[in-house]
Amino acid sequence: MSNVIVALATAPLKSALALIRLSGEGVFAMTDEVFSHKISGIQEHAIFFGTLKDEGETIDQVVLLAYPAPHSMTGEDVVEISCHGSLIITREIIECYLKRGANYATRGEFSSRAFFNGKMDLVEAEAINELINATTQEAKNLSLLSLQGKTSDLVKPLKKDLADLLSLIEVNIDFPEYTDIEEANEIKISVKIKEIRKNVSSLIKGGEEGKIVKEGIKVAIVGEPNVGKSSLLNALMNEEKAIVSEIPGTTRDVVEGDINLKGAALHLLDTAGIRENANRLEAMGIAKSEKSIAEADVVVLVVDATKGLQKEDEKIQKMAGQKKIVITVYNKKDLLPKKETGKLYISALKKDIQPLLDKIYQELDLSEGAFVIPSLSSIRQIGLLKKIDGCLAQAQDDCAKNIPIDLVSVNLSAAYNSARELLGEDATLDLTDEIFSRFCVGK
Ligand code: GDP
Repeated sequence: MSNVIVALATAPLKSALALIRLSGEGVFAMTDEVFSHKISGIQEHAIFFGTLKDEGETIDQVVLLAYPAPHSMTGEDVVEISCHGSLIITREIIECYLKRGANYATRGEFSSRAFFNGKMDLVEAEAINELINATTQEAKNLSLLSLQGKTSDLVKPLKKDLADLLSLIEVNIDFPEYTDIEEANEIKISVKIKEIRKNVSSLIKGGEEGKIVKEGIKVAIVGEPNVGKSSLLNALMNEEKAIVSEIPGTTRDVVEGDINLKGAALHLLDTAGIRENANRLEAMGIAKSEKSIAEADVVVLVVDATKGLQKEDEKIQKMAGQKKIVITVYNKKDLLPKKETGKLYISALKKDIQPLLDKIYQELDLSEGAFVIPSLSSIRQIGLLKKIDGCLAQAQDDCAKNIPIDLVSVNLSAAYNSARELLGEDATLDLTDEIFSRFCVGK
């Protein structure tokens, strides 16, 4: 069966041009059957201008790029067809390849082939997705650094430190008679682990900040009916997204929007008021509010400054406060003759909301580096870093209990394997082989 895959790389919309991408062994032979130039046999990548025909019928005049393996994005033979952006043309081109045994590519299949063919590691492959999804310039820049391997470079020293430590332990266990090797005891190992953990925790901190920059944060705007939530959303978005009304409980639906706060994307959720004696429609809104709070990273609790904090507001503060950042903001400050110190006042109606934006930014606690320094920021990457830290903490504990070093190394090996997993390296490869290839015992 053919392993050629085909996909439309551009959006499935009418446009000036469209790009169809193909990869796999046999793609050149298939192309020879439908294209006006012979592709098979090319030694290096080449560009052709010609006609695509299927069973005598001309499909389109195209620019065709051919990259012979292994010097292509996937490491396989690759063809890219730049055709006119009609949906009929793109469908006909894809169909003429499907007819010849190509398969429609699944999500991310080109990248996954590139990864398995050693063209990029897992962090770089993940960066492709981050780059496509970036909504701010800063997120795009960080993703581009990852794609260029700068984020993967963070893992290499960590991997080396863990490998060196494991080597030291192994060599002490296997060759206790050697006197010219560094002696490994629990105290020494514990000190080294502590140093590595320091690096891991700064990687985790950097990753969590990077995650905010790359993915943005979800902000739920909640509060009693009529306090000005919709007005606040509109002021934040600088447009009339939500319906503002003097009748309490008018905002029934969650209205969403994105804003860019000094390079960090805020995904805003506007929700109906939370109320105990609600009618059925409002009750639906309440359920949505609770869902938004559960989903959000930051909860903005809007209070009507002329009325003050209500019992329900305190409930929200308690409910959300255990898990996330809750910012209580007093709206309608224009109606208030006297302000209390220590409270955050805004006027959504007058679009006087800068103090709230400043407060949100301050709560995110982002260092300047978060916008420019590469970081391991996907959930998978942060999860693995935390796993590494957990294993190291356990190993440190074992050292403190004077557990023999060969048993301490069990957790260190697990940490090392997780570091390899970060880059997507085959964790089943013979670990000891790699360790000893660095170590010259017989010197
Ligand atoms: P929601 O039910 O919490 O979404 O509240 P709305 O945004 O619909 O606002 C309810 C009412 O309060 C409307 O009449 C708004 O014009 C008014 N309002 C909202 N913000 C302010 C403000 O900052 N100052 C004043 N004076 N009125 C406001």
